[in-house]
This record gives sequence, structure tokens and C-alpha cells, in this order.
Amino acid sequence: PGAQLPFDETKKTLVVLGSGWGASSLLKTIDTEDYNVVVVSPKNYFLFTPLLPSVAVGTISPRSIIQPTRHITRHKKRVVSVVEAEAKEVDPVAKTVTVQDTSEIRGLVTERTIPYDYLVVAVGAEVQTFGIEGVKEHACFMKELHDAEVVQRRFMDCVETAAFPGQSQEEIDRLLHVVVVGGGPTGVELSGELHDFLSEDLRSWYPELASRIRLTLVEALPSVLPMFSKQLIDYTVSTFKEEKIDVKTGTKVKKVKADAVVVEAKDGEKEIPCGLLVWAGGNKGRKVSMDLMAKFPTEQKNPRGISIDDHLRMKGSDGSIFALGDCTFSQYAPTAQVASQQGAYLARVLKQKAKRDALAVEFASLQKEELLQSPNAERKEKIEKIAKQLEKQEKVRPFSYSHQGSLAYIGSDKAIADLPIFNGNLASGGVATFLFWRSAYISTLFSLRNRVLVANDWIKVKLFGRDVSRD
Ligand code: FAD
Ligand code: NAD
Repeated sequence: PGAQLPFDETKKTLVVLGSGWGASSLLKTIDTEDYNVVVVSPKNYFLFTPLLPSVAVGTISPRSIIQPTRHITRHKKRVVSVVEAEAKEVDPVAKTVTVQDTSEIRGLVTERTIPYDYLVVAVGAEVQTFGIEGVKEHACFMKELHDAEVVQRRFMDCVETAAFPGQSQEEIDRLLHVVVVGGGPTGVELSGELHDFLSEDLRSWYPELASRIRLTLVEALPSVLPMFSKQLIDYTVSTFKEEKIDVKTGTKVKKVKADAVVVEAKDGEKEIPCGLLVWAGGNKGRKVSMDLMAKFPTEQKNPRGISIDDHLRMKGSDGSIFALGDCTFSQYAPTAQVASQQGAYLARVLKQKAKRDALAVEFASLQKEELLQSPNAERKEKIEKIAKQLEKQEKVRPFSYSHQGSLAYIGSDKAIADLPIFNGNLASGGVATFLFWRSAYISTLFSLRNRVLVANDWIKVKLFGRDVSRD
């Protein structure tokens, strides 16, 4: 390792790929006294994804929901190396990761190969487009911070272009039609946020245009939000009806054009003109995960992600590669809740591993002494004691997920919640749930700084409304 890596040759090296929910949770819990820790991520920050749709309409400012990774690592006992780079290739035989600086500014060195003893793959997922024509070229996404900023800018561009003198009525209607594709929680929450922006701000800033802004949510399946209970799905659909969001279920997007979307429903195929299309079609594995999976063709057959065992070990690997969060395929949904619990679990497992490794070293050295030197009762007793401890440390508890419930914001200061309470499920929706949603999210934000910033943004919007300027 180079000069900046926290190298102590008596310790094993742990390389963590990613700085999202899974990786950040692991970094918070890991004991850096046990390992040389290196974090590799193209983003030098953690993104609080649940509030991303709020950024897309200017309720929350982008910087309020990110936290520098160094903010987490600088409080650790030993230095952690944060490398802003993309992991390009994992070599499970040589036990190395090749990383590349893919950012705008690059120095003379842009690629490094980092050796690892343990590797944690927590690179998340990218947006699934199913290779549908025009999605990558013409749609906006809702995955990264940059995506939310693009949506905000493009939406305001559509509104200002519609306000351009002499625009035809037909063109105004097209420009002011926003289509959100994907009735999962991302698409639903974004639709709710867009509705709020329209009803609370645009109505007063653009009174001549606001009544013509239309929101359509397109979902291929027969229902939106399949992970929520029927009661909450119905509540969401009826709230969207009141909010004049046109929910088109059973409607599949076939093609996206610069100025329209082609959909297929029961009544056939049609082209719907629109000014802005946001694609929230779900997750797909990243190239680095797929390439790694290809190195274990027998065990890694599921294209949905890295298959892991119940100790988060990558199936097929020799036990030195762990994977968690959205880049994996397991019985758990790809959610922040799962990824962060897996991160914390893995940090505890790695602590146990470090303890066991230290015991194994002591055991080997005592056994060597026992062989080479004259018998010693005290030493013998110690060897037996360590052997018992080692046996105990061999047993690693599997990961067990504790579901805290599902929450989603649906606009008009309303949220829905499916909460596992009293061995049953409490389904609740409405304004009280919205207050619960806000308090739950603010308490989950990683740092006090972010809590203050987000609370401040909410107050600012209540007092002064959202900013409609386009940078
Ligand atoms: P991520 O958090 O996506 O982190 C992946 C990390 O890997 C990132 O830091 C990325 O920069 C990095 N990376 C990418 N490529 C590479 C590479 N080649 N090398 C190294 N690093 C790389 N879940 C909930 O439970 N509740 C919610 O309310 C909720 N709301 C959401 C709202 C939105 C808009 C979205 C998009 C998702 C939401 N989710 C929510 C899902 C949740 O964000 C994900 O399940 C969670 O982010 C998964 O964590 P992760 O660590 O696996 O991946
Ligand atoms: P998702 O996979 O949940 O939903 C994507 C939707 O897009 C699917 O319902 C799919 O049928 C639809 N779709 C795909 N292709 C289509 C096409 N061509 N035409 C029409 N519809 C199409 O994706 P998501 O909403 O981004 O969520 C991803 C993960 O993140 C999920 O596990 C979700 O639970 C989690 N998440 C949770 C929250 C929350 O808890 N509040 C918020 C956002 C995301």
C-alpha cells in the first residue's frame, strides 16, 4: 500500500467498496484497531436517499442530505483511508481491487491496485432501464444527488419554456406534462413531492400556467406500491386522485422519445406527449458486481445481484469477500434498512474474526513452544483454554433482519406506514403518519449537522415557499 494507506503489517487489510447505507453503517461500527481499513467510492459522501425526492422539488437543499465519508472515518481510533475512486475489478485469486480515479480532475496516478485480506462489496445498484429505447437518452432518474438536481432544473425549464410568449397551446400542454415511470416507492414519493410543489408554489408564481400542469404516474403492474398493504395502496390511489395525479397502472413504457413516451396498455399502444419524464424503474447490478459474479459462474447465477449466504459471504468465494445491500440478491428487499443492518452486523462479525485471528496466532505460538520446549503445566492449561475460546469464536451468528416498518410520503402532508407492532401490522396513513414520517427520517439522519440542515429547510419552505429560480 502507498503512503496514505493506514498500513500496519500486523493487521489484516479490510477494503470496503462504497460509501452508501451499507458501507457507512459498517464504517460507523467497525473497530479500526483490528484492521487497516480502506474505503473506496466514487462519491466521497454518504447520501440519505429517503429525502432525495424532496431535493428534486427544492424542499430540501442538496447539501442537507449528504455527509462526507471523512466525517464518519475521522472519529475512528486509527486512520481510515478514503479513496475517491471507482472499483473497476476485483481479483479474488490475487485478492486485489483495481481502482480508478474517474472524477473530472485527475493527477498523474489514476489507477491503483489495492490488496485486501477481507473485501466488503457495498456498491449498491444502478437504475434498471431494461434496455428500453430512449430511456438513457431522454429520461431523468432519481437515484443520485445529481439526478434530483437535474429533475428540478429540467422541470423549471419546462415551465419557463411554456411561459415563453407565443408558445402554442398544444406545446404548452406538452411541456407542462410530467410523466413518472415506476409505481414503486421512488416514483410514488416523487409524484407526491411534485404535487406539493405545484399546489403550494407554482400556483402563485405561474397562475396562468399552473392549472395546466399535469402529473401522470405510469406502472406496468396492476397496482402501485406492491410492498404495502392493500389498505394503504387504496389510500395512496385515492389521495393521488384528489391530488389530480393520473395513475396509469397496467401500462408499460415501450419507448421514450425527446418529447413523448410510448406506452402499451389493455387498449393498445399510444404516444403521450410530455415535457419531463422521470424514470424510477427499479434496480440493476453494477458492472463491477456483475464482473465479480462472472468469476464464480457456478455459484453466482442470479442476474439480480451477488448471491450471499446468511453470514453475508459471497457464495463461491473463499470467505474473504462479503457483500451487502442493493448489490446483493437475497431474501431481503433492497432497502436502506436492510443495508444498514447488514453493515452493522458485518462490523460485529469482523470484530469477532479479528479476535479469533489473534487467538489463533497465540495458540500457534504456544503450541510451537510446547513442541520445542520442556512440558509446562501452565502453558498446557493456557493452550486448552485458548482452544475452547477458539471453538466458541468459530460460531458466528447468522445475519437476522429486524423489520422496522415501511414508510412513504405521498404528498399533501400525508404519508403511509406499514408498521410491525404487537406481532401484527399497523397500517396507517394521513397527516399524523406524515409527522411520524418526518420525525422518523430526521432521527435516522446520521449527524446532528444534517438534522439541523433538514429541519431548517422544512422551516424555510413553510415560511418562504420553494425557490423557483433555475440555476
Ligand atoms: P447505496 O446506498 O446506493 O451505496 C452504494 C455506494 O457505492 C455509493 O456510495 C456509490 O457511490 C458507491 N459505488 C458505486 N459504484 C462503485 C464502484 N464501482 N466502486 C466503489 N463504490 C461504488 N430505502 C429505505 O429503506 N427507506 C427509504 O425511505 C428509501 N428511500 C429511497 C428513496 C430513493 C429516491 C431511492 C433511490 C432509494 C431509497 N431507498 C430507501 C433504498 C435505499 O436507498 C437503498 O436500498 C440503499 O441505498 C442501499 O444501500 P447500499 O449501501 O447497498 O447502496
Ligand atoms: P421498484 O423496483 O420498487 O419499482 C419500480 C417499478 O417500476 C416497478 O413497480 C416496475 O413494475 C415499474 N416498471 C419497470 N419498468 C417499467 C416500464 N417499462 N413501464 C412501466 N413501469 C415499469 O423501484 P424503486 O421504487 O426505485 O425502489 C427500489 C427499492 O428501494 C425498493 O426496494 C424500495 O422498497 C426501496 N425504496 C423504499 C422507499 C421507502 O421505503 N419509502 C423509497 C424509495 C425506494
